[in-house]
Amino acid sequence: MASLPQPDPPWLEGLNPPQRAAATTFAGPLLLLAGAGTGKTRALTARLAHILATRAAWPSQILAVTFTNKAAREMRERLRAVFGDAIEGMPFLGTFHATAARMLRRHAGLVGLTAGFTILDPDDVERLLKRLIREAGLDDRRWPPKMLASLIDRFKNSGKLPKDLDAADTRAFADGRAGELYARYQAELGRLDACDFGDLLLHMLAIFRAHPDVKADWQARFRHILVDEFQDTNAAQYQWLRALAAPSEGGTATLCCVGDDDQSIYSWRGAEIGNMLSFERDFPGAQVIRLEQNYRSTGHILGAAGGVIARNRGRMGKTLWTEAHAGEPVAVIGVWDGPEEARLVGERIERLQREGAALADIAILVRAQFQTREFEDRFIQIGLPYRIVGGFRFYERAEVRDALAYLRATLSPADSLAFERIINAPRRGLGEKSLARLAAFARASGLSLQAAAAQLAETDELPGAARSGLRALVAGLRRWRELAPSLRPPALLDHVLDESGYRAMLETDRSVEAQGRLENLRELARAMEEWPDAESFLEHVALVMDNDRDDASEKVTLMTLHAAKGLEFGHVFLPGWEEGVFPSQRALDEGGEASLEEERRLAYVGITRARRRATILHAANRRIYGQWTSSIPSRFIAELPPAHVAAETTMTGGASLWRAAVMGEADPFAHVARAAGRGPGWSRASGQPQHARTVEGRVLASAVGGAPRTDIAIGARVFHQKFGSGTVTAKEGNKLEVAFDHAGAKMVLDSFVTTPSA
Ligand code: ATP
Ligand code: MG
Repeated sequence: MASLPQPDPPWLEGLNPPQRAAATTFAGPLLLLAGAGTGKTRALTARLAHILATRAAWPSQILAVTFTNKAAREMRERLRAVFGDAIEGMPFLGTFHATAARMLRRHAGLVGLTAGFTILDPDDVERLLKRLIREAGLDDRRWPPKMLASLIDRFKNSGKLPKDLDAADTRAFADGRAGELYARYQAELGRLDACDFGDLLLHMLAIFRAHPDVKADWQARFRHILVDEFQDTNAAQYQWLRALAAPSEGGTATLCCVGDDDQSIYSWRGAEIGNMLSFERDFPGAQVIRLEQNYRSTGHILGAAGGVIARNRGRMGKTLWTEAHAGEPVAVIGVWDGPEEARLVGERIERLQREGAALADIAILVRAQFQTREFEDRFIQIGLPYRIVGGFRFYERAEVRDALAYLRATLSPADSLAFERIINAPRRGLGEKSLARLAAFARASGLSLQAAAAQLAETDELPGAARSGLRALVAGLRRWRELAPSLRPPALLDHVLDESGYRAMLETDRSVEAQGRLENLRELARAMEEWPDAESFLEHVALVMDNDRDDASEKVTLMTLHAAKGLEFGHVFLPGWEEGVFPSQRALDEGGEASLEEERRLAYVGITRARRRATILHAANRRIYGQWTSSIPSRFIAELPPAHVAAETTMTGGASLWRAAVMGEADPFAHVARAAGRGPGWSRASGQPQHARTVEGRVLASAVGGAPRTDIAIGARVFHQKFGSGTVTAKEGNKLEVAFDHAGAKMVLDSFVTTPSA
């Protein structure tokens, strides 16, 4: 190990005085509380290095907790850069889960497990719960395993064992049976010699309670405990830290936590910002160090982020400054619709690339997973390498693959892989034996799986349930195949998902994940809108998947805001800043004001990921459920201090688009409607002649309130999403009476029709 060179060892080089204090003060508990990009993680890493270099502790006597495995790897690498391999083996550097698992292995016997216990992944957990729900005589469609899984996870995150549940807790599932099921689940895990993620901590807590000697051993072992992203610890994690380090519990380790209350974004997973407030109580004499100099971002980026987060009430409050130049104002760009958003971001990235930026230094951060799809499609088209972090690429997600498999099996009966994928999704009563028999029959007869299934379903070879399940599937596929040529691709998909029971399967599943899956399926339908037929769409997807194999490391990053915590990029794009998307409507519906503040913290996290340039985008129109609807710019855009922002728009009306939103005008898109009134020639602010993508050659007016349109006279031809083309026969305020060519006479709102642009 390197000895400590005087006066300025490399791991302390360049640190400012409070950072240096955080890295070198070992006297007592320490809380480093500071805003984004102030070098908290850097100071924490320097502290780790300083502990090792001064031999304040051996590597095995340090517990260092990071938020992700990736962060742990990075920390290891930084240490290796300083010490070489001398620090090989920091056994307790990792996430809460990873470090707790390592501890638990040593005492597994105390909770009835062997040292080789299995850690179940969420899929295993669900399968197990499903069985237990059935065994309890409950209907697992009415009481989905996923829902129970997330409930149990919540109990565990708050440190509750079955015996700790109160009446309200146990009422949360199957009319008061949550407690009983939770207890059975725990018993079953024991029998299986297994535990889930939450158990890793809970078991250790239980062991600490029941075996003071074990607790004392661990307390004596750790000289130093370091925790990054402390604001997002949950109750169980905090109890675990307390048990190891709090003097009231007998702890002697020196605890150092770093965090930022403004970046607490995991309350939905049980994170408790209150832990930051408890710190000074539980760790008496704690020193609080604040950092105020931001090293990451330009002045404008900091100013913009600071303006937004200042709107939150529940915060400790801090000001950041930077020596960096002001840089460029945060760009806020209004675009026409989602495809244009993706096109524009693609263009800007190519421009950055020409100017010498590395693709790896560019990120697109979205609020919800489904938002990546439009970018993926665009990037494939222009050959821009990208990677998706912390999630699957859109077309690789299980439900999307299932839906695609349905389409493939519909259009290509010989595609046995596709057929195999959907045969039991949803469940059709085909057990392993039936499936084996089917496969054997297909092999022997040289038929595709689907053709074999069609034949087998007409015989008595299979048990009744399997036979009728298979027969329904085969008949469905035949029907959809006949329908396919006459349906638009999204309509075909809807048919298939509805009639196969696939969508219903997700709808009865009330977990958060199922919501996301349904969202992804709707996004898939949107993706299909742009293709003339399902075949060409499938071909496109095949190409998308192919692109996966190209392994250029130089890639743009697409990820959620949640996954981006702690990271930084030179250039950050923040698309979809529209009410309902961001802030997310679902979050607001579920959590009201508290959720709004959490969404705002996400906005703060997003903007502060950028070192040099942040670009926020919002689209005036989004296709939702196959219908175009107008969107309202996110309230967070209105909260950006104008001094730090440059508004652009690719639409007529220039900056007034978002300013209208800022000023609270009734119809922030009034100018869009006005422009629509002028018919063709959507000119851009840049002076280019024609808007690249009017909606299928038409101009769509705003659906947001506003005055009656003056561009539509009696006798005008209009188009309506639902009723098709027709002729206006009467007008009354903003209502039109239209004789539709096929749907007959209807009264519609003028904002819901489009006029031919050419
Ligand atoms: P976040 O809140 O996003 O997790 P953070 O407070 O952990 O941010 P770091 O990631 O540690 O901040 O640092 C942000 C950037 O500033 C990094 O690029 C880091 O190398 C740089 N930095 C930190 N401290 C200094 C310093 N004293 N001098 C120069 N650069 C610094
Ligand atoms: Mg950090």
